Amino acid sequence: MTDFDGLAAIVTGGASGIGRATAELLAARGARVAALDLNPDQVSEPLVGIRCDVTDDASVRAAVAEAAERFGRLDIVINNAGIGAQGDVAANDDAQWHQVLDVNVIGMARVSRAALPWLRQSPSAAIVNTCSIAAWAGLPQRALYSASKGAVYGLTLAMAADHVREGIRVNAVAPGTVDTPWVGRLLDAAPDPAAERAALQARQPSGRLVSADEVAHAVCYLASPLSGSTAGTVLAVDGGMYGLRLRPP
Ligand code: NAD
Repeated sequence: MTDFDGLAAIVTGGASGIGRATAELLAARGARVAALDLNPDQVSEPLVGIRCDVTDDASVRAAVAEAAERFGRLDIVINNAGIGAQGDVAANDDAQWHQVLDVNVIGMARVSRAALPWLRQSPSAAIVNTCSIAAWAGLPQRALYSASKGAVYGLTLAMAADHVREGIRVNAVAPGTVDTPWVGRLLDAAPDPAAERAALQARQPSGRLVSADEVAHAVCYLASPLSGSTAGTVLAVDGGMYGLRLRPP
């Protein structure tokens, strides 16, 4: 008996990186899983790829309904789709602020709103949001991104408070720097990718990047009935970056 036998899940941003690793792990543990993504063709069986733009409410409602109707139920929502932004508070114009907040924050609200009627029918409902160490640390040169993940932190706690009594648990993971295609693109764009990678590794007390699989295991724990008494928790998966923040060097 695996953790997710008989349960159905959707994973936004499930075609790449953390979302992909999470979708594959959920499926390997017995869930039926749909990856809701701008690029659904990048996933293959047993995952079901469904085109979805989390900034478009009609697209979200159609994709969530397609997954739930196909599986006949919906138990687990992984709100993971996200995009980045670089620079200090002056670096991004209004359009960029709206775009990042639309994907990273309002996207999670849209997907959750569309999924709640199905989750209320599940005996084992869970939502897991992908937050970031940026929510707590306020990363330098990541003002907009840090603000968006700070909002995800608050949204997670508020959703947990609102829905725990109806049996829907809401939690989040807060990864440090994870070795995904996203970080690969950032490294490729750096003047010295090897030096940039070394700097990112050094920033984490563990001295290495987090793997997408490590985040996926944390997400799956929070999504599974094994964490049935955990709600409103944001679990750091960051090589000790947050937990060890007060430790002298
Ligand atoms: P990634 O770029 O590898 O994957 C992101 C996926 O989201 C892609 O498949 C993309 O198509 C999809 N996506 C983007 N915009 C979308 C939209 N509007 N609608 C639907 N899908 C959309 O990124 P990743 O590194 O796996 O990051 C996933 C999540 O983890 C993000 O929320 C990110 O903020 C968070 N995170 C990443 C890191 C890291 O270091 N990689 C650290 C902390 C948090």
